[in-house]
Amino acid sequence: MSIMTTHENSPATKFFARVAAVEEFAYRSRHNSLDMGEEQGQGYVGQALGAADIFATVYADRLRFRPSEPDWKERDRFLLSTGHYAIGLYAALGEAGIVDRAELATYGSDDSRLPMSGMASYTPGMEISGGSLGHGLTVAVGIALGLRHQKSASKVINFLSDGELDEGSTWEAAMGAHHHRLGNLTAVVDINALQADGATSTILSTEPVHEKWAACGWYVERIDGNDVAALLAAFDRAADLSGDRPSVILCDTKVGKGVPLLENREKAHFMRIEEHEWQICRDQLTAGHTSKDL
Ligand SMILES: [Mg+2]
Repeated sequence: MSIMTTHENSPATKFFARVAAVEEFAYRSRHNSLDMGEEQGQGYVGQALGAADIFATVYADRLRFRPSEPDWKERDRFLLSTGHYAIGLYAALGEAGIVDRAELATYGSDDSRLPMSGMASYTPGMEISGGSLGHGLTVAVGIALGLRHQKSASKVINFLSDGELDEGSTWEAAMGAHHHRLGNLTAVVDINALQADGATSTILSTEPVHEKWAACGWYVERIDGNDVAALLAAFDRAADLSGDRPSVILCDTKVGKGVPLLENREKAHFMRIEEHEWQICRDQLTAGHTSKDL
């Protein structure tokens, strides 16, 4: 039996333990995404790697769920508005125990429960069918209203992309969430500065993003979405400070994060990766993780 000292039990020590657990979850998820991508030889691998720290924070630290009972009534709801990020979410669901890790190898194959774009009717733990883009937050508002009507303590987290800030429906939902004082709703925006047709800034300028959400009445945090400590602190602050306002966590992320070969790839939205490159990707990911531990 170990003797617990005050220091070992301090808030800082507990926080560091949370960071370490989430980072490990994210690292394993990134490997899952590379393995799934290799099955198809291509895919939305850059987004999966970029958002891995967000998914890990949600599933390893924030969300209340039962792995063996994905439809448990009292669960918190995580909505993936960006259906094409499904590969990244499956990677996390595998680590969370909601999907069997062995099943991840079926990704994108005929008859698989893990199609390339997220669909609620196929996959345990997938709350909505994501994309057409711009719809997730509207659905999240409806679910949050419904849960409050039922006097449920469950929370709703909606994951969306910076490309979805081009969509008018996103802003209608943002105003509606404030109007209805949906304190049970959190939006997480993956700002990777990229969308299907190019750099977000060249398609439609969405900045200043922080000010726009604040003007809609939301509690706003903007952080480095690949910094797990910052993610945890932002979620903690939002839970403490937002009151009956909806909260949004704006996450600046890097496409391909953790794999330098992919971080610097030009055609990054839908990546084609050569057969010999997959092992290089895995090795780079492992090397980066190991050097962090030293
Ligand atoms: Mg984007």
